[in-house]
Amino acid sequence: LVQARNVHKAFGEVEVLKGIDLDVAPGEVVVVLGPSGSGKSTFLRCVNHLEAIDRGSIVVAGEQIGYSLHNGRLNKLPARAIAVQRRQIGMVFQQFNLYPHMTALQNIIEAPIGVHKQSRRQATELAMELLARVGLTHKADAYPRQLSGGQQQRIAIARALAIKPKLMLFDEPTSALDPELVGEVLATMRDLADQGLTMIVVTHEIGFAREAADRAVFMDGGIIVEQGRPDDVLGNPQHPRTRAFLSRFI
Ligand code: ATP
Ligand code: MG
Repeated sequence: LVQARNVHKAFGEVEVLKGIDLDVAPGEVVVVLGPSGSGKSTFLRCVNHLEAIDRGSIVVAGEQIGYSLHNGRLNKLPARAIAVQRRQIGMVFQQFNLYPHMTALQNIIEAPIGVHKQSRRQATELAMELLARVGLTHKADAYPRQLSGGQQQRIAIARALAIKPKLMLFDEPTSALDPELVGEVLATMRDLADQGLTMIVVTHEIGFAREAADRAVFMDGGIIVEQGRPDDVLGNPQHPRTRAFLSRFI
């Protein structure tokens, strides 16, 4: 579903991604780990073109993200076309980014109505299904400030799912949460993984990586240092940098 090839990205002089190659198959759950500053968020942001890449290519669901191929040359797509591509991709951030003046339900139906031109009834029906999926049917009419961090993040996940994405990106979805709220969000994500959603998850939750991921990818210094089955990468890392990183979690 995702083919990233030789992805390079610099901010000014600083090269943050130095040639990332990553394939993700439909239904696959890939966890990305790595030290702070290694380029994990930048890579995710490139996948849905929140950042433009400098070199290489990213294809999602058969489409070159951000560019069209014409007579062998890449042309930058207009903003409208990029917006269409982005509808295939849901993203959940560390900060939940819910609209504070909207209820949980309103947050979820906003994109389906505003962007996808669904009827309010249709969007509300789907939103109630999604609320059930994240276990928050009873919070449909609550405002974000009336919800715990874990509940807000589950609403953010439901909102991302409301565009029916083929691919979900998670950028440290639990790292802003109090420890006792992490479990409920990870459980929601594990359900999605079990249901066959294709996911790229940046997280430091080693337990989640071992139990829910099909593959673990370790990034450092803008490259993929090591990847493989989570039990191998996490349990028996081959590269010294992976070992050094993981030793902090034991
Ligand atoms: P963390 O674990 O702390 O979230 P990360 O692996 O997600 O780290 P990135 O956020 O991708 O790392 O950042 C990689 C590097 O790129 C950092 O040195 C960061 O300062 C730099 N960087 C990221 N975004 C920008 C930007 N918009 N402008 C300039 N530099 C940036
Ligand atoms: Mg980050």
